Amino acid sequence: MKIIISEIPDEGIEVKFKETIISDDSSYPTQAQMRINRTDKEVLISGKIDANVELRCSRCLKDFRLMLNIAVDVVYNPVEDLKGEEKHELKHDELDMGFYSGDELDLSELVKEQIILNIPMKPLCNELCRGICLKCGADLNEGNCGCSEKGTDSRLEILKKLLNKGV
Ligand SMILES: [Zn+2]
Ligand SMILES: [Zn+2]
Repeated sequence: MKIIISEIPDEGIEVKFKETIISDDSSYPTQAQMRINRTDKEVLISGKIDANVELRCSRCLKDFRLMLNIAVDVVYNPVEDLKGEEKHELKHDELDMGFYSGDELDLSELVKEQIILNIPMKPLCNELCRGICLKCGADLNEGNCGCSEKGTDSRLEILKKLLNKGV
C-alpha cells in the first residue's frame, strides 16, 4: 500500500489495510492500522501491525506460527534533505527514522521492515519447549526417548574418552 504525501490532509489520515508481506521465501499475512500526519516535510506514522509469521523453533526445529503485535512510531523525512549542507538534526532520537523520496511513501515497505526487526532471534514454539535429544534426535516434547535413562550423554562420553587417552 502506497500513500501520496502531498495528498495527506492537514488533519491527517487513518489507514487500515490487510496485505501479505513477502520477504525472501516467507510470507506474512498482515493487518495494519496507522495514523499518518504531515508537518511541512515530515511524515509521522504511528499505529500497529499484527503479523502472522512462520518461524522455526530454535530448540525442537519445528515450524510454528506466531502472531506479532508491533507498535509503530516512525518519522519520515525526504531523502533529498540528507544531501544538503544543512544536515538533519536528529530531534526525534526516541523515534524510528525513515526516508522517502519523491511524493510517495510505501507503507508495505515500512510494515516489512518492522516485521523483520521484530522477529525473535531465537524463536521458541513454547517457553517450555524441551527441544530434541542430542543423541537420538527424538522430539522430547512427545515424551522421553530413554537416552538419558541409559545414563550417558554423548558429549560426556566423548569427554570421557578424551580424558582416558590423556591418562
Ligand atoms: Zn520447540
Ligand atoms: Zn534420545
